Amino acid sequence: MKNAIKIAALLLILCLVVSVCACAPTSEPTAAVTAVGEVKNVILFIGDGMGDNHIANCKTMFDLESLPFEADLWGHVSTRALNDPITDSAAAATAMATGQKVNREEVAYHDGKDLTLITSLAKQAGYKVGIVTTDVLNGATPSGFSAHAKNRDNRRDIINSQLASGIDLFIGESTSTDMYRTTYRQSFEDKGYAFATDWEGMQAAKDEDKLIATLDNVRSDYGDGRDDHVQLDDLVRFSHEFLENDKGYFLMVESAHIDKYSSDLDLDNTLYEVRTLFDAVQVAYDLAEEDTAVIVTADHETGSLEKAESKKDLTNDLYGQDYHSDADVPLYIHNFTLTAEGTVIENTQIFHICKQLLGIE
Ligand SMILES: [Zn+2]
Repeated sequence: MKNAIKIAALLLILCLVVSVCACAPTSEPTAAVTAVGEVKNVILFIGDGMGDNHIANCKTMFDLESLPFEADLWGHVSTRALNDPITDSAAAATAMATGQKVNREEVAYHDGKDLTLITSLAKQAGYKVGIVTTDVLNGATPSGFSAHAKNRDNRRDIINSQLASGIDLFIGESTSTDMYRTTYRQSFEDKGYAFATDWEGMQAAKDEDKLIATLDNVRSDYGDGRDDHVQLDDLVRFSHEFLENDKGYFLMVESAHIDKYSSDLDLDNTLYEVRTLFDAVQVAYDLAEEDTAVIVTADHETGSLEKAESKKDLTNDLYGQDYHSDADVPLYIHNFTLTAEGTVIENTQIFHICKQLLGIE
């Protein structure tokens, strides 16, 4: 009889565990925001793959004593996905953009449903919205903030939902298989977007209502012979001017190649891309009055990178592996304060922080 009770109890526990795991947990706000002034604009910087030691090693490489945003370090962000302690960029972007943990490779989508994006809520509330990345626009991070797809590889689903998003500004990198320039260019133009393929084209379209730009060269200029590239800081300056309006805007800016170069165990290029992100954040800080909240974080760490003691130790041997790790990533916040239990928040809280900053119920 005792055994029967034990088995029944075990079955009950098992059922509870299964039913809890079967649905995507909707996170509740646990971090409370207090703005310094009245917030109009929110700029969210994501260094793809950028952990604490990427930042520390970049400072060592460039002899930077401190960073403009260093004093704004709030704490850290936990990045795990719903089905794996080590996330991919799609699940991480989805968590930050929707407040819900999903499985790896899902793009603002889970269990047969599209999840509500911060960018959609911002649009509905009357804000302008921009998505800027050094990756292709159908990359996992920009997609997680602007599209819905069962899998990050479903390019057509992603681009079609971006077309329907109403987002005011898209800027990304072009590649040889860029479907935006070919298959979808006309569709974007039919939706009222100006279409640019270079910096000059962007300048010509700066007074348009909506713009999509896919650019050939958005890598860091810090590498050799790369001074013809459009830099992320230029794109932030452009986006601020393009999106500025009486109500305000939400802008997501991703530096994508920190992750890609870390996966190649290529420290020099990784740190050049980190430096480019520093420059872009500096522009936002320079532009940002008290009415602009700035958040700097990452979707996950890549490479289990160790910290160099000095410049001569900056070698590819600092990488522990060539993929994402489960390390918490840093969170810097500017022009607002954040109250939470402890100093680590879940990545889903980024959604709630942005919502609170934008005054969205
Ligand atoms: Zn990533």
